[in-house]
Amino acid sequence: MRDFMLFVEQRDRFAVGLFRQFRIEETPSRVLIITPNIEYKRWVLEYIKSRLQDYGKEILVKSHDEVSKNDFEDGLLEKYTFENFVVGRSNEVVYRICKEVASNPGATFSPVFIYGGVGLGKSHLLHATGNAAKRRGFVSLYMSANDFSEAVIRSIREGKLEEFHARFKKVELLLIDDVQFLSGKERTQVELFRVFETMHARDKQIVFVSDRHPKDIKDVSERLLSRFASGVIIEIGLDEETRLFIIRHKLSQFGLEPTEELVRYVADNTGYNVREIEGFIKTLKTTGITSLPKSIHKLGEEIIKLIARNFNLKPEDLKKKTKERRIINARQLAMYFCKTLLGMTHSEISGLFGGNDHTFALYSIRSVEEKRKKDRRYELMILTLEKSLRKHLSL
Ligand code: ADP
Ligand code: MG
Repeated sequence: MRDFMLFVEQRDRFAVGLFRQFRIEETPSRVLIITPNIEYKRWVLEYIKSRLQDYGKEILVKSHDEVSKNDFEDGLLEKYTFENFVVGRSNEVVYRICKEVASNPGATFSPVFIYGGVGLGKSHLLHATGNAAKRRGFVSLYMSANDFSEAVIRSIREGKLEEFHARFKKVELLLIDDVQFLSGKERTQVELFRVFETMHARDKQIVFVSDRHPKDIKDVSERLLSRFASGVIIEIGLDEETRLFIIRHKLSQFGLEPTEELVRYVADNTGYNVREIEGFIKTLKTTGITSLPKSIHKLGEEIIKLIARNFNLKPEDLKKKTKERRIINARQLAMYFCKTLLGMTHSEISGLFGGNDHTFALYSIRSVEEKRKKDRRYELMILTLEKSLRKHLSL
């Protein structure tokens, strides 16, 4: 690379100044010159290219928006696009910001920090943003925080940390998913901070995604958290109307007719999680069963409603990520009753409460069982609640 620039300088001392503004991609057989716009491209083709022929490699010139694909492993999944993302009240602001970011990375909002519960389309939007920006010629890179961490560790082990950082110098849009997984990973945080600072100084775009607000992320350095919070912070949710849109859309996608009855059936048997909705529809498709006598999920939601009311909370509070004791207590009880009264599995219960693996329910329920053994008043409360739930749910 340095040799190529030297070569250019030998041919034309004036040109090298401009060439520094171009992106130069060199492989053993060719040099790709990417100019910021078509005018520069013409200029290179007309005045300089012929004088670079004897560099010994093929010389290609493209303008920025002709480069439609990244030339390194960019982690982007093509199946996630803006076109196949269903937009409704609870995700349209995030959607619009992502579209804006994809058209003008670094220009308006940077960094963007998106947070929200599992299965609400955060990763989908991140890939969609990267794919759209990439189509417009912006070099985009998607990494989960875990990918990033593994890459850091590998680079350190192989003594290639500088090369690791060099990679980000080309990147114009960096998409980091699931940053809550940075918790406790100190070295990773140090390197991410460095990446952030260099990209930020170059006015490049970063989008972070997390399952929770920066203030609820534990064991991440203050300086990194403050960077997360230095741009736009925005929550993605899922309201009932959008959920129904999505169900209709997914049913059609799977070749099932979205009749009102079928939409209702899916809605009653799934929670506020699009991944779960997709899973449920897939099962419908493969088993051909499109109605069941009783819907466990609906009863689960009833339990949540009744327990929430009992503790003066809103039903959605019980699905929040929080450290608030009162909420945790209510949630644990609601989970416990989903198990004992409805016979739901730990995974189903975790899903219902917005968790992503069965241990969430397992630990919560276990803690109720233990407290119940030790605390007589708590035991009585459970018996009373159980009686009233049975009555309300006609169990
Ligand atoms: P998250 O990262 O928030 O946990 P994902 O982005 O992985 O969730 O979404 C889970 C699944 O649901 C994916 O298959 C995704 O395509 C789909 N999905 C989520 N939200 C939407 C939406 N608004 N429209 C269409 N599909 C969606
Ligand atoms: Mg995700």
